[in-house]
Amino acid sequence: MKKIAVLTSGGDAPGMNAAIRAVVRSGIYYGLDVYGIFRGYSGLIQGEMKKLTLGSVGDIIHRGGTILYTARCEEFRTEAGRLKAVEKLKQAGIEGLIVIGGDGSFRGAQKLTQLGIPTIGVPGTIDNDIPSTDFTIGFDTAVNTVIRCIDQIRDTASSHERTYVVEVMGRDAGDIALWSGLGDGAESILIPEAHYHIDEIIHRLRRGYERDKKHSIIVVAEGVGSGVKIGEQIKESTGWETRVTVLGHIQRGGSPTAFDRILASRMGAKAVDLLRSGQKDQMIAIRNQDVMGIDFDVALAQKHIPNMDLYELAKILSI
Ligand code: ADP
Repeated sequence: MKKIAVLTSGGDAPGMNAAIRAVVRSGIYYGLDVYGIFRGYSGLIQGEMKKLTLGSVGDIIHRGGTILYTARCEEFRTEAGRLKAVEKLKQAGIEGLIVIGGDGSFRGAQKLTQLGIPTIGVPGTIDNDIPSTDFTIGFDTAVNTVIRCIDQIRDTASSHERTYVVEVMGRDAGDIALWSGLGDGAESILIPEAHYHIDEIIHRLRRGYERDKKHSIIVVAEGVGSGVKIGEQIKESTGWETRVTVLGHIQRGGSPTAFDRILASRMGAKAVDLLRSGQKDQMIAIRNQDVMGIDFDVALAQKHIPNMDLYELAKILSI
């Protein structure tokens, strides 16, 4: 194998740049030409690509977002679109592709492998919602961002003796809510994977109030429902002043944490190793600190579930 390419696809995540850097630098180290494809599968269909050098990926390890830009692409969901993409890769002599993105991007990558382009996926998404890997690139940074925001909200909550509901990202997966809620000592954490009852939340709030706790934080994953609505329900039941903050896109950006930079560096380099050794149709995962390739079929057949031990622990610690 002499020529490989890398692209980022789907939602951006901090650490994607560190992964691109690792792919480019380790590829060049092993004597490969490495091409960057811009704007995900959409740019691939248009043939938007350029050969990257050691310098092209300098000064990006600490930057959020992705220097290759990212996009969603409806045309790539069609066989005709994918055939155009394969044609562009073949014209450029590219023999292997690394796709940094989420599970949607991996389903696209699988189909490219079926059309004769060996492809490896690197999990990059803040949601941590990809099965078979303990962590995805960007998750740790997002949790740290949420924790910083909640710390600041907590100052106001305690000064004004208020209850705060904080809605965080996570349409299908509650990992961001769970980890940031545990890390921030939230009274209640609401995630899509666990049923909740508003009476239980109010009971916990009242119990805190009775032991003279004057402020509370409730973290809600967006997949559970509207934080505003939960805030209204609490206010109606208790009469306490309740404020709601929806953190939104602030959670996607920012300089990646040390954990994400190192994870991205390891995963990017591993993806190059796999392509060089003739592997394909796999995603990179980290399990118990080991970075490995897992067949897409096996990996994506699983269902992601957050670490529910943490959920139980958070309940115990916020008694
Ligand atoms: P993510 O990779 O973050 O999960 P998406 O689900 O939006 O993001 O997927 C990113 C892109 O991957 C889509 O815009 C589409 O081009 C491609 N894709 C997603 N699912 C499929 C699929 N089943 N078949 C082919 N391509 C897909």
